[in-house]
Amino acid sequence: MRGLTSSLWPIRYKPHPDELLSSWLVRLARGHGLRVQTFCNLIFGNQLQVWNRDIDRLGPSWIVDVLSERTGTPIKVARGTTLRSYDGWLYPYFRSSGPLQWITTLQMFHRTRQGFGMQYCPLCLYEDEDPFFRKAWRVAFITTCHKHQCMLRDRCRECGAGVAFHRGDMGHFDGQHRDSIADCYACGAGLASESVDAIEAYDPKVLDWLSDLSLSVMNGNSKLQRAGSMDVMRHMSVLLTSRFLNLKLHNYVCNMLSAPEMSLARGRVSIETRTLVERHHLMQLIAWLMMDLQPRLRNAWLAKAVRYNHMLKDFERAPSGYLKIVDDFSNLTCPPLAVPS
Ligand SMILES: [Zn+2]
Ligand SMILES: [Zn+2]
Repeated sequence: MRGLTSSLWPIRYKPHPDELLSSWLVRLARGHGLRVQTFCNLIFGNQLQVWNRDIDRLGPSWIVDVLSERTGTPIKVARGTTLRSYDGWLYPYFRSSGPLQWITTLQMFHRTRQGFGMQYCPLCLYEDEDPFFRKAWRVAFITTCHKHQCMLRDRCRECGAGVAFHRGDMGHFDGQHRDSIADCYACGAGLASESVDAIEAYDPKVLDWLSDLSLSVMNGNSKLQRAGSMDVMRHMSVLLTSRFLNLKLHNYVCNMLSAPEMSLARGRVSIETRTLVERHHLMQLIAWLMMDLQPRLRNAWLAKAVRYNHMLKDFERAPSGYLKIVDDFSNLTCPPLAVPS
């Protein structure tokens, strides 16, 4: 396609607010009337494989820079479409493989994306004039839509497939043409919908806390990470799901919140890899602890739901506020020596 060799492409969509790089790229391909794979081959050549990696997480400059230049989008805005914009905020440092703190895992097996890491709000997609996928939908602790106060979804309602909108017209043996980016790649059912799922809430205050947290992400408020809250929250998820601890803390917090003791996927499964249902459940338990961490953790410890050494085990970079809380417990076990009269 001749227009693609000129410095500016014929179609120069800019990213929508909070749009993911992959969503922007797929919209551009569709805008040019090309299959996603064809478009990528024309732009990046056959050697650079775009879709066998998590481009939103990696934010490769060979993609971002080209999209920025050819669409006339400021580079800062283009970089803002990648999950790297959460560097040093949702996670302390970037890593290209393995779980990345609070970023959902797509579980890439070649191009198939068998996981359920790409979430969406059916009503956001329904209301979009030009549907697109949001960056905040890849944040593992966001399980509800702040705008519509409904549950997000992590799979197609009709066939149960995970979301892989880039495969809607891959031109690949398992890719089918789909009219919209918001159609399930596997069965073609629309992901956009007016009907939504009500939020299951164990405690309205917990939900408010989580809602404020997701709003702070949407607004780009990085204050939370400076306080180390993201790391502490993540450590709570480890304590709550550890089989090694016999899930005692999980059972204890469920009991305190009168929440059902959901049976969680076994094994060393990070919260970023868990399904939406499990994350939504776990996030409410984590939020309940975080809302009043010192007394709630202390009471859990006194009830023998968590052991002292586990509160610090494998928790590198534990923030000073958290260390102080845990230190105070050790003082409780060692009452001060009686001063001889
Ligand atoms: Zn929504
Ligand atoms: Zn489907």
